[in-house]
Amino acid sequence: VFQLSLPLNFLGSMYREMRQALTDMDSLFSLQNVSSQIKDAPHAKDLVWKGGEIRFENVSFGYHPDRLILDNVSFIIPPGQKTAIVGPSGCGKSTILRLIFRFYDVQQGNIYIDGQNIKDVTLASLRKDIGVVPQDTALFNNTIYHNILYGNSQATTAQVEAAARKAQLHETIQRLPKHYDTLVGERGLMLSGGEKQRVALARAILKDSPLLFFDEATSALDTHTEQAILNQIREILREKQRTSIFVAHRLRTIYDADTILVLKNGRLVEQGTHSQLLLQPSNQGVYRMMWQLQEMHHAEDSVLFDGKKES
Ligand code: ATP
Repeated sequence: VFQLSLPLNFLGSMYREMRQALTDMDSLFSLQNVSSQIKDAPHAKDLVWKGGEIRFENVSFGYHPDRLILDNVSFIIPPGQKTAIVGPSGCGKSTILRLIFRFYDVQQGNIYIDGQNIKDVTLASLRKDIGVVPQDTALFNNTIYHNILYGNSQATTAQVEAAARKAQLHETIQRLPKHYDTLVGERGLMLSGGEKQRVALARAILKDSPLLFFDEATSALDTHTEQAILNQIREILREKQRTSIFVAHRLRTIYDADTILVLKNGRLVEQGTHSQLLLQPSNQGVYRMMWQLQEMHHAEDSVLFDGKKES
């Protein structure tokens, strides 16, 4: 029995990890539309992570040949830094993440990770080391403990708890009827959108990947929790020198990025830090205009919300 149960346990955890990875990507990338034509090249080698630098070189891509989503786009995402991708809805921000995962091949140009063309590396080695914190994560019908553990089935109880603390989830869990043993998911306790985002974050912290994607990862959180979590994420990323890419609508969540890439109509129109991008002349500057518009709304919202303007 012992001999049999060991490999079965192992297979079970492999299965769960794979299912989790697929589920996270599913919600982020709607896999049902992904073609299965992407396969390992015959000569493919495993990706060797160094610092985690990503380079797009003259990349053009469209889901349909007659409509380019990215048009000759080149940029470098520096290793160990926070990069944000911003731009109007539908401009191709999430598409960039999908291309790095190689869910699709580019029509022109090349994408390199640490100098290796992603077409020449094995898909498994590419995808296993990318952590994703999606907007909406799926929960399994299991305890909240196990839902966090999916990030890394080898983790100890102490590590799970530490990850939950960093994701501002520990206190919430302490208030649940059975604490970490509370069943969640469809057949258990339903978690709110913000709680699910914090589970996703705790998983990613536990997974500890060299490359992290945050796709509108804090959109369901209240401002206070969001700020607390963003501070935590900032600390973790800085401490571990992880490369991170944030896709965001609300510029207040990314203004501290080391590099902000601004996309519009399929092209990279601006890049720089927040203060560099704000220096654009007032009648130009896509980022500057987006920022001013959002700040205006923010001021209006806070007047409406608590009767006085936030400082
Ligand atoms: P948002 O800010 O609204 O999330 P985005 O900038 O992340 O948008 P993408 O999700 O990258 O935009 O989509 C870019 C464009 O490609 C959109 O016009 C979208 O409709 C289209 N698109 C996305 N996925 C597919 C697909 N699987 N098949 C065809 N078109 C797609």
